[in-house]
Amino acid sequence: MSKVNLLDLDIISKLPKNKIKDMKLYPVFIDKDTLACVGSLNSEDLSYLKFLYNKEIILKECCFSDLNKIRDSILLNETVEKIEEIIIEKAINLQSSDIHFEPFQDSIKVRFRINGDLITFFKIRKDKYKEMLSRIKITGNMDMTEKRLPQDGKLKFDFNNKTYSIRVSTLPLVYGEKIVLRVLYKNHNYTIEGLNLEDSQRDNLTKIINSKRGIVLINGPTGSGKSSTLYTILESIKDTNTNITTIEDPVEVIIENINQISLDRKAGLDFSNGLRSILRQDPDILMVGEIRDEETAKIAVRAAITGHKVYTTIHTKSSKEVYYRLEEMGVEKYLIKDAIIGLVSQRLIKVLCNNCKVKEKVLFQNQELEVCNSKGCLKCNFTGSSGRKLISAVHYIDYFMTEEKLNNLSNKQMLEMVLSLLKKGEISLDVYEDFIKGEYII
Ligand SMILES: [Zn+2]
Repeated sequence: MSKVNLLDLDIISKLPKNKIKDMKLYPVFIDKDTLACVGSLNSEDLSYLKFLYNKEIILKECCFSDLNKIRDSILLNETVEKIEEIIIEKAINLQSSDIHFEPFQDSIKVRFRINGDLITFFKIRKDKYKEMLSRIKITGNMDMTEKRLPQDGKLKFDFNNKTYSIRVSTLPLVYGEKIVLRVLYKNHNYTIEGLNLEDSQRDNLTKIINSKRGIVLINGPTGSGKSSTLYTILESIKDTNTNITTIEDPVEVIIENINQISLDRKAGLDFSNGLRSILRQDPDILMVGEIRDEETAKIAVRAAITGHKVYTTIHTKSSKEVYYRLEEMGVEKYLIKDAIIGLVSQRLIKVLCNNCKVKEKVLFQNQELEVCNSKGCLKCNFTGSSGRKLISAVHYIDYFMTEEKLNNLSNKQMLEMVLSLLKKGEISLDVYEDFIKGEYII
């Protein structure tokens, strides 16, 4: 948990703007007769703060990472006009996928999602946030006066000679509207190599891709990279002889030479009626962003049986569960078995930062094992990890599914991959154990 929460924004508003940039000692909160400060002790700042607040100064311990965050928050609240620009730039530099602005009673907390975790970076004052909210609503083409209903919008952001598309969503909370900004990065390199597959898995995927008909379901929890896998497959199969059409919620990445449709609920375009319209347009290959309702499940399965190739995602923990989920959605068992040609389960798993990882000996399954761990450094933003790796189980369903075959659709391939990553020192024992806890072989 970051100490940026300790920062009292009312106290820092007393600081003269021209002074802040040169300061090395920062006030964070007032406690009875004392003013708690963080930073490096120096006589100039000390006497200045003592004079300004008329309190005894006490120095609080603060790690380098927290000190940076406190300093950034002070500068942001007191010296910056358009705070969203600084915040979005910082998020892009850290390759954060989502920026959360969360209103609480006295201030707004800003957190970035980095490698799957939400990390606090700033704290901002309510008045600053209010101004920012209006600017974002205007540029995002949203209704500025609507404060009681959730809204969606889009904006463009120029930074480092690149233009980023940002999806905006607002949600009214008890202390005000929360904003989440999703940054869409175009620099993805969608290649099959990037999927980190074992040789046998790659062979299975090739067989799945080469099949002319059938449905392929990528499964896994939210944030396990399912859409990226779909984009990778589409990128690898697009050619001039086939009609590839997608329906997505919304289109996140533009792929040249294929037809992509974004859902538009306001206009009444959803997965099921969109899919029905696509089927009237002579498609060869369809991509449906996600199967989450009965209607879509039935149309997708029917399309696969009648000679189309359908790629989609479904929210289940394992490949075996896909069968049950589709059944729950009212699709007949024999149709499901006839339609499915490939199943891919996947997870994203945090890998250790190469800059700060160290070897350590641990007791693992009653044997001593050398593994790696990391405490964090400036390079990994003190998280100890430097990104995530995809791990998968790839099943090619080549004939009528028997009960026995069905029972073999476990996550065993994934468990083996994770164990090998632990032994190679790429992931920590904690990450390994968390993974095992969340999984079960069924
Ligand atoms: Zn590091």
